[in-house]
Amino acid sequence: MSTNPEASPAHRPDRTLWVIAAVLIVAFLAIVWIANRKQPELAARTAKTGWPLTKEQQSVDFQTADLTFDVQPNNHRIDGRATLGFLVKAPIAKLQFDLDPELPIESIAADGQALQKSAWKNDGGLVTVNLPATKNAGDRLSLTIVYGGHPHVAKRAPWDGGIVWSQTKQGKPWVATAVEGEGCDLFWPCFDNSMVEVGTVTQHVIVPAGLAAPANGRLLGVDKLSDGRTRWNWEARRPNNYAIAIDVAPYKIAKTTYESRFGYRMPVDFWYLPGEEKQAQNLLAEMVQTIGFFEATVGPYPWWDEKMGVVETPHLGMEHQTINAYGNTYKSAPEGFDWLMNHEFSHEWFGNQLTNADWDDMWLHEGFGSYMQPVSLAWLNGRMGYDAAMFKQRQTIANKYPIVSGKHQTEEEVYNPKTGPGGDIYVKGSWVLHTLRGLIGDQAFWTAVRREVYGRPDPRPGNFQPRFGSTNEFEAIAGQEGHRNLKWFFDVYLRQAHLPRLVTTRQGTSLNLQWQTPKGLPFPMPVEVDVDGQRQVVPMTSGRGTVTLPNSNSVVTVDPESKILRQNDAIDRYRDDQAKKKPKS
Ligand SMILES: [Zn+2]
Repeated sequence: MSTNPEASPAHRPDRTLWVIAAVLIVAFLAIVWIANRKQPELAARTAKTGWPLTKEQQSVDFQTADLTFDVQPNNHRIDGRATLGFLVKAPIAKLQFDLDPELPIESIAADGQALQKSAWKNDGGLVTVNLPATKNAGDRLSLTIVYGGHPHVAKRAPWDGGIVWSQTKQGKPWVATAVEGEGCDLFWPCFDNSMVEVGTVTQHVIVPAGLAAPANGRLLGVDKLSDGRTRWNWEARRPNNYAIAIDVAPYKIAKTTYESRFGYRMPVDFWYLPGEEKQAQNLLAEMVQTIGFFEATVGPYPWWDEKMGVVETPHLGMEHQTINAYGNTYKSAPEGFDWLMNHEFSHEWFGNQLTNADWDDMWLHEGFGSYMQPVSLAWLNGRMGYDAAMFKQRQTIANKYPIVSGKHQTEEEVYNPKTGPGGDIYVKGSWVLHTLRGLIGDQAFWTAVRREVYGRPDPRPGNFQPRFGSTNEFEAIAGQEGHRNLKWFFDVYLRQAHLPRLVTTRQGTSLNLQWQTPKGLPFPMPVEVDVDGQRQVVPMTSGRGTVTLPNSNSVVTVDPESKILRQNDAIDRYRDDQAKKKPKS
């Protein structure tokens, strides 16, 4: 707002004061209104992610998304313009996409031709657009959607997601998005299903002067607008829908170049808040070390042609492809690493390169992602770090729901511990992998992981594409690499809630072992036993085995290296006691 030059203080002091007072009051009321505005409940469809694709959505290839976000931190608003490009595979007269109905659509154009308002409707989050003419296989279709409003504010990001309007210590805007649980439709028009990865996503993020907007992929450039704002242009290859993120703050950047064992060089960027240079440089050094470790252990960094990017966020974290959210406040840890940075970074392989074919397979993201922290610790500090981390994870396994249900699930159904496995996809998933590795050996295990992630055992930059994977596929691959049928293993560990129990009885010089499983399922899991310091393996082919001991005083340790995930009375009692102590809410 500019003041009228005629009303200079010398001539009209009273009026000027009134104007200033009025402006202050309006500004104050606007802030109060924004702070107290009750946000509407999300529409049922918008609140969840992973809806089956409609017939029309299955009839197109979603190839490009060009997204402009005009981010207005002061009034908690985003105005968007999205141009979505499709290759038609089967005739369609209409097309649907998902968008939060709280972000009203101002206009839609099909192939550049503006449509009448009656040509589209947003029905509870599913927008249907009637096309001006039927499109046939081989045709291209471009939809430009202009929309805007107040995007859903996260209640507890990243768990109850949305947009986070925060402020830095200096009172500057600090904005982030985290929508894994609800999906991309919270701020852009998309197909809200993990099986849809757009070929190329271009973002143009417009922010007020003095703010930066790191995003997914490669930076194409920053434009200065005539009003002082800046537009940050980025391009990303095959990002997950929920990985597309907006991050805005007065960021500074710590950067270096990574030289890969696979022969490429890549920028490594950490976007941090002013005043944290030292911590930022430390984390940057750890990031470089971490890429090297993951490449040596799993395989090439999937986005070797873009960047490794991490951005400081007001929420804990999220695996936003090539721009991972980091909100762990540089906490020191006796383990000697930043678990959060490590965990989110693991998702570049387990989540972004390998994406679950259905959310029912979400342990492929979180179980593998969580197993990489103990593995990283073994590499950093030796066995103690690995064992300590595994023991910590073991204590939080709930065993209330199977990790995999075998039917289509939304992310919410899997993640909510009242309807699905919840945290078990992390910790039990990690322990299942630990047990599998013990069973089939390191080489078979890591080759199986590599094949699952890249679709081939010999990944090199340029010879693989992002892919979708399922539990059944990994079961088959692990079986091939381990040279045995592993159905029994995955049936008991992933498709049953309860753990197998190893019943051991000792009579004189006879030690009897027997597996008990839910529904009496077969479980020929071999068990290592140390007898007076001598290791032996009990094959347990029919689920039972006997060890003859040298004498009745022999010292026996069953599973001396804790290789096998199994029911444990002490942990169950401990968990029960902990649950009783928790205040009832
Ligand atoms: Zn995770």
